[in-house]
Amino acid sequence: MKAQNPYQLWGKETPKGWDSVVDPLIKQLVGMGCNIAQVKEKFGDLRVYIDEGYTSEAGHLVSEATEKCSTTCAKCGAPDSQIRSGGWLVVLCDACESERKPHA
Ligand SMILES: [Zn+2]
Repeated sequence: MKAQNPYQLWGKETPKGWDSVVDPLIKQLVGMGCNIAQVKEKFGDLRVYIDEGYTSEAGHLVSEATEKCSTTCAKCGAPDSQIRSGGWLVVLCDACESERKPHA
C-alpha cells in the first residue's frame, strides 16, 4: 500500500483568503496529470509540492500562483496586500493588518 501524502490526508493547507488562487491552480495541475503531494503556506509564501507529473508548464502555473498569493490577503483575499512580519510572516491587506494589531 502506498503511503498517503499530506495533500491526500489533509487537502490544501493554505489560508482561506488564497482560495481564489489556490483552488483553480489545483484544478489545473490535476487536469494536467500532476500528482499533488502538498499545498501549504510557509513564511507567507505559497508552496506547492508535486509528486509526479511535474512539467515546466506546471512549474509556470505554480510560480504565477505563488506571485499572486504574495499580494493576496491570506485572511480576506483582498489584492494589493503585502507581507507582514511581527511574530510570523503572513500576507495581509491594510484592514486585516490593523485588525491583527489593534494597539498599533
Ligand atoms: Zn484582508
